[in-house]
Amino acid sequence: MQPRELEKEVTLFRRLHAIAGSVYLAWWFLLELLLPHYYNPISNRLIVIGWFALWFTLSFFSNWVRRHLRPLLDFGVLMLTAHFFFLFYRNGGDSNWVVGSFITVMAISYCFLSEITLLLYSLFVLVISVALTFLLPGLATSIFLPGLLTIMLQANIGMRSRLRALAALAQSNEQFDRLFNATFEGVLVHRQRKILMVNDALAQMLGARKEELIGTDMLEIVAPADRAASAERIKAAESTPYEIRGLRKDGSTVEIEVRAKNITLGKELLRLVTVQQIDYRKKIEQERVAIQALAENVRVRDEFISIASHELKTPLTSLKLRTQMIERDLKKNPAETYPAAKTSEFVAIIGRQIDRLSELVESMLDVSRISLGKFHLRSEPVNLAALARESVNLLRAQAEEQGSAIILAAPEEVMVNGDSARLSQVIENLLTNGLKYGNRKPIRIELSASQGMARLLVADSGIGIAPEYLERVFERFERAISSKNISGLGLGLYITRQIVQAHGGIISVQSKLGEGSAFTVSLPLRA
Ligand code: ADP
Repeated sequence: MQPRELEKEVTLFRRLHAIAGSVYLAWWFLLELLLPHYYNPISNRLIVIGWFALWFTLSFFSNWVRRHLRPLLDFGVLMLTAHFFFLFYRNGGDSNWVVGSFITVMAISYCFLSEITLLLYSLFVLVISVALTFLLPGLATSIFLPGLLTIMLQANIGMRSRLRALAALAQSNEQFDRLFNATFEGVLVHRQRKILMVNDALAQMLGARKEELIGTDMLEIVAPADRAASAERIKAAESTPYEIRGLRKDGSTVEIEVRAKNITLGKELLRLVTVQQIDYRKKIEQERVAIQALAENVRVRDEFISIASHELKTPLTSLKLRTQMIERDLKKNPAETYPAAKTSEFVAIIGRQIDRLSELVESMLDVSRISLGKFHLRSEPVNLAALARESVNLLRAQAEEQGSAIILAAPEEVMVNGDSARLSQVIENLLTNGLKYGNRKPIRIELSASQGMARLLVADSGIGIAPEYLERVFERFERAISSKNISGLGLGLYITRQIVQAHGGIISVQSKLGEGSAFTVSLPLRA
């Protein structure tokens, strides 16, 4: 027998002992009061009452008694019956005692829980009553024997139908239990947060046994952070589904979706709660998002490869054409084909193409260094103002060639800590973009220092950037314009932001389509 069932049985039989003892005592009082002239000594009655009291008391201490309360009760009621008939005999069995015997036998019949014990009891009563009819001859002509027989018959028939009803009830209980436990969802029923029922699925979800959960406060299976919200919902009798974290027995949490509603059973207001584990659902959702991101990465990379091949091919084609030209010229007229002036012009053109190629390859290498975490910076005192002047001088020729101007406004010295080569790269990237996307209009570059920060602004009045691209231009391979218009890999601003962030700074952009863009870099000043 399960511990809980044993406990239930102990409580039941302990109660029956208490009832039998007290009723028999009360009966003594009643007889003394109403029919004082009868033989009704308390002494031997106390033996019977003591029997019930003894086992009632010992059941709190002894396990043996707890396990044997049922046969002890059976024996007790036999003793009681025997004692009653003893009093019956001593009082000559008049009509009062005949009625008393009917009441006693009928009441005791209800103490038996199986057909066989009731049948044995009936035989016992039959034997005693037949014996009494012999001992008290007046009884033979009274209602005593037929009355008792009728009562015994009725008790035995009643027991049969009671047992049948109980069996049907047990069967329907069992069926309900099976269904309750077979559902995939976790289900629980609580009354004002006290858990009354839990099914297998929920117990399993919470890593606990059902017995451990029944009787506890419903909030104990909710993660502490979600308890207040949960209590509110119970109070407000909310019935819309909601997500919270359940608390498992081992202290870990489990993501669950809860639906609850109030129900009335009999006169009791209960709350029925169904619980669904959503960890899996969330995991699947996360995986789906990850797969989508992966697919997007692959797409962006494919696009990049096509842009990169195109970008690399342009200077290569030009180089190839130049060398073919030189080769052809040399074959035609080797002596005078290349005077010094022409040679240096060719070399300059070839040099520019080679520079472009190295720049592209360098950008790609930078990106791969960043991805692999191999992007290392030196840390030395750097005068940002000097770097800005150098970069402007370097690009001035290119700017003039494109019909654009660079206007620099900077103090003598703005000192920061960092990697001068990389910081130059930042300034040059921004200036080159200004030249590329600046519509041949002047480009302003301003440097200032305030509140512990150096501030570098590179602004143009060119094509500008559409709002939806403003943040994306700092991402890898992202371009805000079609690759056919102006060449580029979409890596410059990504590398620029990485360098700025590695220096503890930030970069931002303000732009209006068709009006121009302003990039601002803020870097901590050297202490
Ligand atoms: P690339 O210039 O090689 O495409 P960048 O990372 O330097 O790559 O720039 C990303 C994109 O941001 C560019 O393709 C362009 O669309 C936009 N962009 C950058 N600078 C400017 C600017 N000054 N004005 C307008 N658009 C710009």
